[in-house]
Amino acid sequence: MSARYARQIVLPEIGEAGQVLLGKARILVVGAGGLGSPALLYLVAAGVGLASHGGRIGIFDDDAVDASNLQRQIVFRELDQGATKAEAARRHLSALNSATQFATYSHRLNAANILDILSDYDIIIDGTDNFATKYLINDAALKLNKPVVYGSILGFEGQVSIFWANHGPCYRCIYPRAPTAHVPNCAEAGTLGGIAGVVGAIQAVEACKLALGLAHCQQHGLDPLIGKLLVFDALTWDIRKLDLDKHPKCPCCMTPPEQITLANEERAVCETQQPVKPISLRDLSDLWETGVPVTLIDVREHAEWASGHLDGALHIPLGRLLSEEDALVDINRSDVLVVYCQHGIRSAHAVSFLRSKGMEALNLLVDLPS
Ligand SMILES: [Zn+2]
Repeated sequence: MSARYARQIVLPEIGEAGQVLLGKARILVVGAGGLGSPALLYLVAAGVGLASHGGRIGIFDDDAVDASNLQRQIVFRELDQGATKAEAARRHLSALNSATQFATYSHRLNAANILDILSDYDIIIDGTDNFATKYLINDAALKLNKPVVYGSILGFEGQVSIFWANHGPCYRCIYPRAPTAHVPNCAEAGTLGGIAGVVGAIQAVEACKLALGLAHCQQHGLDPLIGKLLVFDALTWDIRKLDLDKHPKCPCCMTPPEQITLANEERAVCETQQPVKPISLRDLSDLWETGVPVTLIDVREHAEWASGHLDGALHIPLGRLLSEEDALVDINRSDVLVVYCQHGIRSAHAVSFLRSKGMEALNLLVDLPS
């Protein structure tokens, strides 16, 4: 075993002791797609979840492989088309490492079955691309006090964080509820395969850190992304690490875990609304010229606002906007509200929320210094 994993055992941050911990880890990857594929390949190659150590790699995906997946879901091959993703992934991953213990799940993850499945794992990797499942995973993991290695991509932007409610914020601390209007996933908005690969690889690294344990991490200077959001823009390779705080009014963190109820219905809400079409700065100036009253809102975090913002904008961080009743008191509700953030994802959430409150809101895509 030592020879096979020699290149990582030689790292003082891992060593023989760390390698044993990786072998013992029980990690569930939800979604064997663009993020899950690279995450699974790196975990399995690294000797995570070995049968001899009592470890396990879980692969959850209710979908089948199709031709359009092959551009980024690199665990699959052409001959897998039509096969269930969980089984096809297991087949290829077993060939990569025959010592790994696998469990596969090809049914739909829902509120009725998620707790049973998550209970069997130490760490969850969220490789999904829809809000309903992200919220379901978050809420269930919070009930069970399990860490979730979160990843998402949209176009050229990628994000990674670890949500672990006992040690930092959860997904709902940042995005309290699912958008009521449709926000495109990568299948609709498009992405380059390598960008999903970067996010999935980072998720695998973070899952390995968690498998080593927080005490081991602290002792060896490994700093997992708990309470931090790593955001990159592959158009420019602008990479930032934002501090995330637990939200004092988070609907989940502020509820005793046993009282958190799991729900499936957010998927339906997401899928039935009209898309939020972004506007450009040129569209905004056209709007100004018509004389329509406009209020500009910046929904980024304090540090981002401090490093530069558009003249005349109001600053209301997304978490506050979504959860605090008085966040909107300074806004003239009859104005057209034009919302922006760094890359258009948080502002899309804000726009759908404002529209659900009966306000006219537009998502402005803008290049900001960072
Ligand atoms: Zn929370």
